[in-house]
Amino acid sequence: MSQFAFDPPAVVAVPVEGQAGAFPVRRILCVGRNYHAHRVEMGGDDRDPPFFFAKPADAIVPPGRDVAYPPRTANLHHEVELVVALKAGGADVPVDSALGLVFGYAVGVDMTRRDLQNAAKDKGYPWEAAKGFDDAAPISAIRPWSGAPPQGRIRLSVNGAARQDSTLDRMIWNVAEIIAEASRLWTLAAGDLIYTGTPEGVGPLVRGDRVEGKAEGVGRLSFTVV
Ligand code: MN
Repeated sequence: MSQFAFDPPAVVAVPVEGQAGAFPVRRILCVGRNYHAHRVEMGGDDRDPPFFFAKPADAIVPPGRDVAYPPRTANLHHEVELVVALKAGGADVPVDSALGLVFGYAVGVDMTRRDLQNAAKDKGYPWEAAKGFDDAAPISAIRPWSGAPPQGRIRLSVNGAARQDSTLDRMIWNVAEIIAEASRLWTLAAGDLIYTGTPEGVGPLVRGDRVEGKAEGVGRLSFTVV
């Protein structure tokens, strides 16, 4: 007799550069409003600190798979982001030891139903339908990393035309601060991914669009919206 009432879902995993073993995903946290220029384009120039929201682990789209255009939206947006992958966790992690939790980095896209997000903001409703839908978290392979976080360019193009182009050193909360802040709200653990926020230039996607994201020194991802 089985331990479970039915077969449990497969573990969501992201390939790791240079090794056979993939990274098993536990949770996905995301940072909102972590670049000043993106705050401005979203209609705010507030000085409130960045904040967190979450996506389910099964929103991950591993490299090589296309992204399904989700139902119930007419304004699907791309947000290219550096993604931090954790090999260890804890609670109340000090900023000066936070980088010791890092397994590696990837580049990801925080796919957003912008129309549903705006409606949720207006009503004070939660963001899950805007941020946590199927295929909402495309990601590249993870590059193992130690030491100072990547600081170079982060870019996204659609059908070869540049849409987003910034640098990672413009983040309001840096990687160590993000990990420390998150660990005050949740007990972090190996397998957690953190999407660290998007720079300016977000915009709509339609079916057939070819999306390419790059983070300098980290990697690239590409997919078609189908
Ligand atoms: Mn985002």
